[in-house]
Amino acid sequence: MSIEEYIEGLPKGAVRARKDGTYTVVPRMRLGQMDAALLHAVSRAVEKYGLPGVRLAASQRMMIDNVPEVALREVVEAVGLVGDCFAHKVQPCLGSAGCKLGQQDSMGAADRLERVLAGFTLPAKLKTGVSGCPMCCAESMVRDVGLFGRKHGWTVSFGGNGGKRVRKADILAEDVTEGEAFEIISRALAFYAEHGKVKERTARFVERVGIEAVKDAVFGGER
Ligand code: SF4
Repeated sequence: MSIEEYIEGLPKGAVRARKDGTYTVVPRMRLGQMDAALLHAVSRAVEKYGLPGVRLAASQRMMIDNVPEVALREVVEAVGLVGDCFAHKVQPCLGSAGCKLGQQDSMGAADRLERVLAGFTLPAKLKTGVSGCPMCCAESMVRDVGLFGRKHGWTVSFGGNGGKRVRKADILAEDVTEGEAFEIISRALAFYAEHGKVKERTARFVERVGIEAVKDAVFGGER
């Protein structure tokens, strides 16, 4: 099997070719977390192959850079699971589980949101940010779908984007329960799935159809 075929068989984004001919391996870190076994496995791989170390990406992922082609398969096997476990990226902050400012359980909500999103096939990749308070450390307002907690519930946002054409998300609802938030997100995504163009991210989608159309689809006559 060629190296290209081998990479093709891995989860999308698990191994990335670099300009210098080496590769970056991305261990699986669900919700930005690593256990001791994964830490040891990564450490052993870096030592064994004399790699410069690891790098943390803004997306809460660890990157093992400069892996030569001859060592690629062994490094992937050494760290175990690689790539994202779900198609859509969920980025949480620590929230009320560990942050003194946390007003809602963002880790728990992110865990459940990931499973809600797994049921959707969407026009483009989807990034989400789940923050435990309005400080928005998980960058909720520049994500396709955002949640941030306040004392009385969750704020739900939609259509945000970072990158070269930044768009601040629109607020769909405030002070809703987690269940209500997921229902709102599911309705917005169903509308996006039906009317979005291929590779059209939510920011461009909202700019094209208008946020009122999204709100109509989500709330109908309820608002
Ligand atoms: S968003 Fe709020 S709860 Fe989350 S890490 Fe930042 S300050 Fe803490």
